[in-house]
Parts: sequence; C-alpha cells; structure tokens
Amino acid sequence: FDWWHASNLQGYAPICLGLEDFYIRRLYLRIQDCFGRPISSAPDAWFDVVERYSNDNNKTLKRTSKITSCLNLGSYNYLGFAAADEYCTPRVIDTLNRFSPSTSSTRVDGVHTELEECVANFVGKPAAIVFGMGYVTNSAILPVLVGKGGLIISDSLNHNSIVNGARGSGATIRVFQHNTPSHLEKVLREQIAEGQPRTHRPWKKIIVIVEGIYSMEGELCKLPEIVAICKKYKAYVYLDEAHSIGAVGKTGRGVCELLGVDPADVDIMMGTFTKSFGSCGGYIAASKEVIQYLKYTCPAHLYATSISPPAAQQIISSIAVILGEDGSSRGAQKLARIRENSNFFRSELQKMGFEVLGDHDSPVMPIMLYNPAKIPAFSRECLRQNVAVVTVAFPATPLLLARARICISASHTKEDLLKALEVISKVGDLVGIKYFPAEPNKQ
Ligand code: PMP
Repeated sequence: FDWWHASNLQGYAPICLGLEDFYIRRLYLRIQDCFGRPISSAPDAWFDVVERYSNDNNKTLKRTSKITSCLNLGSYNYLGFAAADEYCTPRVIDTLNRFSPSTSSTRVDGVHTELEECVANFVGKPAAIVFGMGYVTNSAILPVLVGKGGLIISDSLNHNSIVNGARGSGATIRVFQHNTPSHLEKVLREQIAEGQPRTHRPWKKIIVIVEGIYSMEGELCKLPEIVAICKKYKAYVYLDEAHSIGAVGKTGRGVCELLGVDPADVDIMMGTFTKSFGSCGGYIAASKEVIQYLKYTCPAHLYATSISPPAAQQIISSIAVILGEDGSSRGAQKLARIRENSNFFRSELQKMGFEVLGDHDSPVMPIMLYNPAKIPAFSRECLRQNVAVVTVAFPATPLLLARARICISASHTKEDLLKALEVISKVGDLVGIKYFPAEPNKQ
C-alpha cells in the first residue's frame, strides 16, 4: 500500500477536504489554526506560543493572536539542548565571535572537520560528512548513492525527505509494509534469487531504507531482523536516525545501541542535529571510501555553503556533554531522564484509556484522534489549559488516522508530566478519544 510514495497529493489537504463547501472550509480553517503556531522563546519544557484564532461567529473569519506560556509537549528537544546550556552556550558564543553566523563559503577548518570526526566517533562509523540541513541530507545524498539501474526498497512510512531523494535518484522504487521484515524479504525475493552473486543480479545496487524511530508512529525500527535479511540478500542498509540518535540507547548512540546491532552492519547511517542536539544540519556516517566519494561528488556538499560554525559548535559541545567529556554526569542523567519520562508518560496515558502508538523507550507517542474534526477541539482545549501539543493529519498521516503527537523531553519534570496528564485526561473525556476502559483508581 504505497499511498505515500505514489501520491502527488502531499500538501494539497485543502483541495482534498473540499474547499467549496463552506462548513468544511470553516473546519479546515479551525484545523489550520492548530498548525504552524509560531513560538516566541526557546523550545524548552515551557515556552511561549503565539496563539492565533479565527473568530468566525459573525462569519468574518477575523484572525487575532495572543502569546501564552505553555508546557511544551511538541518539540524535538529530546535532551533539552535546544535551551541555554551551561557547557554548550558559552562555547557557541565563543565560536560565533571567532567566526560568524555564516562561513559565506566553504568549510572552516577546526570546526567542520572536528564535527565530522566527533559524529563518526559518536555513531561508531569510520567517517562522516555533515550538511546544513537534515532534509537535504536525505534528498541530496540518495541520488548520489544510487541511480538508474539501482533498486531502492523503502519502508512505506519513511519521511518525505527520503521519498523525495528516492524519487530524484532515478532508481526503481519498491515499498515494503511499514516495519514488517517478512514483507521486506518477500519484496527482496521477488527482485533477486537468494544466494545469487551480486554480479549476476538484475540490479546494480539494492538499498533498503528504514528509520530508527518513526516520527509519526513512535515505533522503533525492527533493525536486527532487517539487517539479517539485508545480509542474506546482500542489500545495503540505509538508516535514518533523525529521531533516535541521542534520544535512545544507554549512551545515546541510537537504535543500534538500544537494539544490539553492530554499527558495522548498517552501511549508511544518516541523522539530523535538529532534535537531540538542539542545533541544525544533518550527517551521513559510513566507510571512509563512501564518505570520500560523497565529498568529491555530492552537489549538496560541493556547491553549498557549509553548516554555520556556531551550530557546528553546539553539536560538538552537546555530544561532549552526552559522553561526559565536560567532566559532569549531566549527559547520563539526561539520557536516564528521557527514558524514565517517556516510559512513565506512555504507561499513564494507556492506563487512562487512550490509544497510544509506539514502543517502550520511544520519546515519541502519538495519541490517536482518528477523526480530523477532533484535531482543533483537542489542540485548542489543551492550549486553553496551557499545554501545547502537535496534531498531525493528512497528508502526513492517512485521512482518518489523525493524531496528537506527544514528544517527551529530558527537561520535563515529574510535575510537568503530571500536569500534562491531568489536562490531556480532561480534554480526552471532552473530545471522546479514550477508546479503552481506564484502569481503576488510576485517573
Ligand atoms: N528524517 C526524518 C525521519 C525526519 O523526521 C526529519 C524531520 N523531522 C528529517 C529527516 C529532516 O530533518 P530536519 O528537520 O533536521 O531538516
């Protein structure tokens, strides 16, 4: 079922919702109010949200706005590094003073090379290359790694940046059922006979692309099974760790560490710096030969200005904290905290009767709303009680699988989580999204 890879409908929700109909238009405007709310402070555990709302009682659809301080359940600030940090911030400011916000050209020796070595060492690969944007890392790298005559086998719920990169590569694309290794094997078996030597296969190259944590599902990748199948059929593994690097694993090294997979068995490791590291940009980590090839051939490396030096410094410093190289145990505490917070919040939501997607240890937990009409009600009622949640709808999910996506951070305190649970429980009753019986005496 390949609605995501095949459809060109992405971004055309208003058309699909039927803008001609006045009532649907009003619903759509209400849904729209829930998206793209600007924020006017750092995305820490609490932040300032600019609330816009349309007052359509008199059918004028007039828009007004106000700023509200809210508990933040929607940012990717998994480890809390997106806010000021006693170790990172002075170093970022120092780098800003020594260089500038932009290199305005190619790389700065001592910052970019240090970053690449630091990332390679952190994820456990021999070398790495960094890019100014996570999205571009996927969409620009895939066409360099594989082209016409190659085969990409992609998880059906892979991120749009992967879909675009795959489409732009000119390779043949096949999709396997989301996180289902048996279906991946079926697709591979259809393409090649087991044991056939690489040189006799119909494909120049086969790349299987998966994500560490699926950002709309909160699920962990079934990486050990997928790696085993790829070994059997001699396919390359490409792993996008945007939501898992820094966020899971005993020392924050992502799903390989969490699930006991040797990083040597993952050919291409991709990740972004916008989540756990509180910065911007993306990386590819792989063998020295692959990275050298990318440095000589990838247009997004050759023709683009490099990642901003202060942003690079933020990543180097946050990794130092995670690894305890700042001389404190703050990194280990943050990792323990995000795991504890995530598992506590997920189990409490489930006890209340919500349908929560995703796996144990994952900080991403979608609460199913199903009906798109529940999006504005849920979002606005939470916001009214100073809790900011992200709601997700078509085309990021199938039309009738709307959800609120909670992202837990290490900077949430127990009090924050208890407040959030109380508000979500009340709003859940109001909107009617507790689909399972609640556990007695737990609400
Ligand atoms: N890959 C995945 C799985 C993502 O979820 C995202 C965005 N959240 C990206 C890549 C793009 O990363 P960035 O936002 O850092 O550009």
